[in-house]
Amino acid sequence: MHELREHYVDGGWMPAESGFSHGLVDPSSEQPSGSVVLASAEEVDAAVAAARRAFPAWAMGDPAQRIALIERIRDLYQERLEDMAQAISAEMGAPIDLARTRQAPAALRHMSVFLDVMAHFDFTRPLGPHAPDDRILMEPIGVVGLITPWNWPMSQVALKVIPALLAGCTMVLKPSEFSPLSSALLAQIIHDAGAPPGVFNLIQGDGQTAGARLVEHPDVAMISFTGSTRAGASVLRGAADTFKRVALELGGKGANVVFADADEGAVERGVRQCFINSGQNCNAPSRMLVERSVYDKAVEKARSVASAIEVGPSRETGDHIGPVISQRQYDHVQSLIEAGMREGARLVAGGAGRPAGFNRGYFVQPTVFADVANDMTIARDEVFGPVLSIIPFDNEEQAIAIANDTPYGLTNYVQSTDGERRNRMARRLQSGMVEMNGQPRGAGSPFGGVGHSGGAREGGAWGLEEFMVVKSASGWG
Ligand code: NAD
Repeated sequence: MHELREHYVDGGWMPAESGFSHGLVDPSSEQPSGSVVLASAEEVDAAVAAARRAFPAWAMGDPAQRIALIERIRDLYQERLEDMAQAISAEMGAPIDLARTRQAPAALRHMSVFLDVMAHFDFTRPLGPHAPDDRILMEPIGVVGLITPWNWPMSQVALKVIPALLAGCTMVLKPSEFSPLSSALLAQIIHDAGAPPGVFNLIQGDGQTAGARLVEHPDVAMISFTGSTRAGASVLRGAADTFKRVALELGGKGANVVFADADEGAVERGVRQCFINSGQNCNAPSRMLVERSVYDKAVEKARSVASAIEVGPSRETGDHIGPVISQRQYDHVQSLIEAGMREGARLVAGGAGRPAGFNRGYFVQPTVFADVANDMTIARDEVFGPVLSIIPFDNEEQAIAIANDTPYGLTNYVQSTDGERRNRMARRLQSGMVEMNGQPRGAGSPFGGVGHSGGAREGGAWGLEEFMVVKSASGWG
């Protein structure tokens, strides 16, 4: 059993005073697996006060000191990679092999990219030859509140904690109450790496109390939030009175536009990408738009790929997908599958209820709907489960119109062997990211969206500058 009853504040583990806790449940068995304390507003205040005290020295210190800290964190994280994979798998149900190969190492990749960026980063820059005595100063924004979800827990935490530390900010991290184990381990790693007291603080808590207190706290200069669009709106409202900077990474409803000239592997790739991590990905290509001349073939391919995807418990090794995180998430996914059937989409794989052989655990059948209309609930709402909607289109113009007909705009995908067309599509799709022909975006490219997906940019130089204020000075000596 995992019993988490401490926060990490001012350089040490602080026993929780609040009497409230959140029960942890193993998503594969539905058995209780422990509990995590839920911080009170006063405990959040103590963490913010520690961060505030630590800010001047950390912000004015030598960036080389910050780089050295991240290098130590990286090395210790590498040593504890297996512990981290176990923690992630236990808390959110990722199959252990996915946790080992993708979930836990994601943070290491972010650290290495940020260290590369820092090696060439200019904190003091000339404005231009026309103004030789001007300088642009890149300064840390202050105490930052970092609020993260549970679906890629260490990836999301690293995308905030590492650049904030490098920028010279001090911080309070509040991870999801569904994924407290990985962040508690990270706090220990940061402690062991020798972070000065107060620079990094961890509060275990929920959104309503701890998250909301961070958001409204007058001494917090910025909130970096990753989570649902609904909670993102509440964060924006809560931050208004104190004029905080708010960086939001929210939900998505990505379109994957498959043209008739797409490569052979395009449909299979799209299905697998939609289902990885049991579909719990903000950037899931959950609407597959297929050109009509290859539509029937694509639907058949998607059916056969989805039907062959195995579902299994988190602890088992193998490339199966695991359960979704919670009863609530299971119910949400089921209600959307039922809506798909009710609203007339054609079920070609999976469907409602657990996969055959499972009578417990939050397992969902890998599900594919064809003949989906873009106004159906399954095409509009973020499912956050292994459910793919296939929508036919007749021409490029129509594909763009369908893809852009969503309030979200995180990642869209294009499959075509015509380079000119890919470039046109990349320009016209309304989203922060466009991934084409299965080519992953390169290390250091910015992650973020538009519209209801939020407008933050995480990763690389953009993700570092997100935590900085641009100051311009004249008369530089
Ligand atoms: P969630 O919004 O329920 O919770 C996210 C975090 O916010 C948690 O730490 C939670 O405790 C906190 N929170 C909730 N309400 C809050 C409030 N009113 N004020 C302050 N904090 C609050 O989301 P979730 O279920 O944990 O995560 C799934 C969602 O996250 C999906 O919608 C997914 O698309 C989104 N997501 C987005 C990205 C991205 O980079 N764009 C990445 C991963 C997940």
